[in-house]
Amino acid sequence: MMEATPATTTTAAADDCCVKVAVHIRPLIGDEKLQACKDCVAVVPGKPQVQLGTHSFTFDHVYGSSGSPSSAMFEDCVSPLVEGLFQGYNATVLAYGQTGSGKTYTMGTGFKDGYQAGLIPQAMTALFNKIESLQDQTEFQLHVSFIEILKEEVRDLLDTKSEISSNGQNGKVNLPGKPPIQIRETSNGVITLAGSTECSVKTLKEMSDCLEHGSLSRATGSTNMNNQSSRSHAIFTITLEQMNKTISNDSMCDEYLCAKLHLVDLAGSERAKRTGSDGMRFKEGVHINKGLLALGNVISALGDEKKRKEGAHVPYRDSKLTRLLQDSLGGNSRTVMIACVSPADINAEETLNTLKYANRARNIQNKPVVNR
Ligand code: ADP
Ligand code: MG
Repeated sequence: MMEATPATTTTAAADDCCVKVAVHIRPLIGDEKLQACKDCVAVVPGKPQVQLGTHSFTFDHVYGSSGSPSSAMFEDCVSPLVEGLFQGYNATVLAYGQTGSGKTYTMGTGFKDGYQAGLIPQAMTALFNKIESLQDQTEFQLHVSFIEILKEEVRDLLDTKSEISSNGQNGKVNLPGKPPIQIRETSNGVITLAGSTECSVKTLKEMSDCLEHGSLSRATGSTNMNNQSSRSHAIFTITLEQMNKTISNDSMCDEYLCAKLHLVDLAGSERAKRTGSDGMRFKEGVHINKGLLALGNVISALGDEKKRKEGAHVPYRDSKLTRLLQDSLGGNSRTVMIACVSPADINAEETLNTLKYANRARNIQNKPVVNR
């Protein structure tokens, strides 16, 4: 894959310069209905405002419990990020929330299953539509990687026996003794994943195969919160490279652009004490909290404008998650956090925690930079 050349700063509309935060409230589901839970999360009509007890929070967008991730959510939150890729902006979509709040449902795991309306499949479709419309002027290359971070270790979700056809990379198997995947930073600040599978994809089908295959490989663990509890951060990354076929003098286009979109299904945000964990499981819980804690601290450091102007330290290095997202969170990027919540009264405490965390994220100020 070609290496991006040094980044240069451009100005962007004020609207582009902050992290967008949306809240997605799923409907009451099976268990909650059986327990006759009450809906305790109210949406203020006509406003992106959520009320929980005496607390009230305003976000960029709020999506009520009317079912699957709608095309409106995609248009509002993710479509601008896909468009931005074509101008060289990195982007990150983060799904945050307690286990069972609908993160995976919102992000989607492919076209075949019940999650087909998810944001990732919609992003893929939009990406390929745009590529098709620009193919005459521009040559595109697409790569995807899919990793998870579990217990502060990076695991390749694509590096197993696979059916993926991608430049002869199919048929890969997990090799015993393979060196661990390492997060590296190039001299111009680009974060790379050394040792992870990067699949070159040419079609929507190839890309969705990667998503489906990796989603199946994702590790899950059992806790008393939810027996399908996801204890890892899963990061599906699409890298788009563009080479202009014709460069004319009056064209403002660049010869080469490279940008990536991280689609992140974060680990459950619930605290370790609620999982009733111990032993190994507890260790996993502690590590997962480390990633989310670091993400919160990075977000907080980025949001403190005064400190940022003074060149304050942003603690990206405190976790693998923040290290990996370093060049796509706060700098060369557009970021959207989708805070997923359950409406059920039994989850009110965790829902409040999620709303507070998401509210804090709204203060991040990004300074978009274009990779040229
Ligand atoms: P998480 O990934 O946050 O642990 P899931 O995405 O697995 O949560 O969702 C938990 C359960 O809730 C699943 O059974 C899922 O199908 C259901 N669910 C989540 N969001 C919705 C929604 N918007 N509409 C209907 N069911 C949903
Ligand atoms: Mg999940």
